[in-house]
Amino acid sequence: MPEAERPSPTIEDYLGVIYTLARDGERVIGARLAESLDVSPPTVTATLKRMDRDGWIVLGEDKTIALTETGKAMAMSVIRRHMLTEWMLARVLKLPLSEIHREAHQIEHTLSPEVEERLQSEMEDPRVCPHGNPLPGFEDAVSQWQPLSQVGQGALVILQRIHENLEDQYEILSFLEANALQPGAEIRVEEVLLFNETMRISVGRKTVILGLTLAELLYVDPVQEE
Ligand SMILES: [Zn+2]
Ligand SMILES: [Zn+2]
Repeated sequence: MPEAERPSPTIEDYLGVIYTLARDGERVIGARLAESLDVSPPTVTATLKRMDRDGWIVLGEDKTIALTETGKAMAMSVIRRHMLTEWMLARVLKLPLSEIHREAHQIEHTLSPEVEERLQSEMEDPRVCPHGNPLPGFEDAVSQWQPLSQVGQGALVILQRIHENLEDQYEILSFLEANALQPGAEIRVEEVLLFNETMRISVGRKTVILGLTLAELLYVDPVQEE
């Protein structure tokens, strides 16, 4: 899509969040956007009206938000630019997982189509971002992974994905990083304490207590044991 047709960074951010909420089967309404983007509900309402007028979204009678075809294409474009930038920051600059999201968030809006294309091939056509979240159109690549919170006691699993909702939670990402909980990490579920809403896991020699709310946003794949 030619550069001139891109909306402002604010609109691009809205489009990205709307796409991700819809992908996850969540009800896409202004209140969710206000929460996700950390802006006031009146601001969200005003911005959504503009986006409806400009043809990016359709605001339903029941206040639900749907992307138009143009809106969807632009949402996919900004998310792709974001994820490719994350790869560049992680691989080339070796920035830690806890920092690449917020840095990429600044750069994504200014990436030209030429640089995007170049990144795409230099980063070897990734299907997921460094956190394991799917590039738009590659949702199937992650669909078989299950939330860690649903894994039974004793299971051995590989951490594959840290959900988008955690990517801007610096404290949580640093905690995960400090405990070697990165995509690729091998995790043994030692004990699940449902009444306490926690689980005790081991990663290498470390023992970590996780809340189930957090574990719900970490996706894993089972390891076949002999
Ligand atoms: Zn990100
Ligand atoms: Zn990411």
